[in-house]
Amino acid sequence: MKILILNAGSSSLKYQLFEFPGKKVLVSGLIEKIGETSGRVKHKLTTSGDSVEYEIQVPNHQIALEEVASLLLKGENAVVQDTSEIEAVGHRVVHGAEKFSAPTLIHSEDMLEELRNLSYLAPLHNPANITGIEVSMRVFQNAKQIAVFDTAFHQTLPSHVYRYAIPNALYTEHGLRAYGFHGTSHQYVAREGAEFLGMDPGRFNAISIHLGNGCSMTAVKEGKSVDTSMGLTPMGGLIMGSRPGDFDPSLILFLAKTLKMDLGEVDNLLNKKSGLKGLAGENDLREILKRYDNNHPLAQLAIHMYIYRIRKYIGAYAVVLGKVDALIFTAGVGENSAFIREGVCKDLDILGIKLDQQLNSANTKTTREIQQADSRVKVLVVPTNEELEIANETVKLLV
Ligand code: AMP
Repeated sequence: MKILILNAGSSSLKYQLFEFPGKKVLVSGLIEKIGETSGRVKHKLTTSGDSVEYEIQVPNHQIALEEVASLLLKGENAVVQDTSEIEAVGHRVVHGAEKFSAPTLIHSEDMLEELRNLSYLAPLHNPANITGIEVSMRVFQNAKQIAVFDTAFHQTLPSHVYRYAIPNALYTEHGLRAYGFHGTSHQYVAREGAEFLGMDPGRFNAISIHLGNGCSMTAVKEGKSVDTSMGLTPMGGLIMGSRPGDFDPSLILFLAKTLKMDLGEVDNLLNKKSGLKGLAGENDLREILKRYDNNHPLAQLAIHMYIYRIRKYIGAYAVVLGKVDALIFTAGVGENSAFIREGVCKDLDILGIKLDQQLNSANTKTTREIQQADSRVKVLVVPTNEELEIANETVKLLV
């Protein structure tokens, strides 16, 4: 059974073709600069390692997906003889609000309309995700279209966690509450972590720390999300590449009233110019770490703040969970930076967390334990795989 996974952004389209059972990735690729004068295509055949890269004009997502379809069918490297072999297309959709608390088969214009009605909650992401579904319905007409939501894993948050202390009507009439994001990643690494330790995922308590360009943490109790650091949008919580995480919301009033910024400028400042970029001029953590090593004071401040915020959430989530089986690090920074993991776990004996320096600095690409033998809490590095998790969820709906 062949399953195509699509992650459509406003000017990009990422894809992977899986074969089930076996969960084998046949091809993966990315089309960038959709709508610009010259687009860029990267397509890799995972089985042979062969890849192609070229520039081509890609005016819209429809043309982008037609390009993907023709690459799948092309010549000796064809992975399908006919697009009808693709049984389902799994789509990453950022926001499902309360309406979509599980992966959902999208089979009608009415359902697309329901999805479009949620776009006000994620205007930067959902419209592109929905375009991906629309064009996929046309290009892969025989395939089932399944939406998998970043918010779905967090639909188990209790109301005293997801509500904000603002007038009730803002929730009842406009859905203003915390939703949480990176759900597909947190769900995947929590289950992987439990299975790696030989524990039942349904009895597993973990603090999952996703540190990529976007960063978030989730308290997972008995396999379910019970608290998470992002809220209504993916801006709150941890310090990220270009987003600030938690701050006093009055700051926005100050920007608007005193500094006379319009809302577009405030939006841009908070989503694109804050976080590590705002503090130290770069959103790539590797660059900041180089400056840190050269004693650059702003890079040092940024790293201290970044680590401190994560530690603060660990403390909070240890209380939320009561018993913590594992701390899980994942995504670009979490999987690759021994330095950040060490900073996060430093002097946490009080919580039963004791990192092993040597295990921490060994760099492999597989799931591994990095705690000392007498650490009460396991510390794991689990490489995330959101595409695989979307494929798993898609297949579950087919059988
Ligand atoms: P992601 O969004 O998961 O692709 O993660 C992107 C982030 O991971 C960027 O900030 C990168 O700088 C960071 N990253 C990737 N590799 C490393 C590394 N070896 N050390 C520190 N940060 C890294």
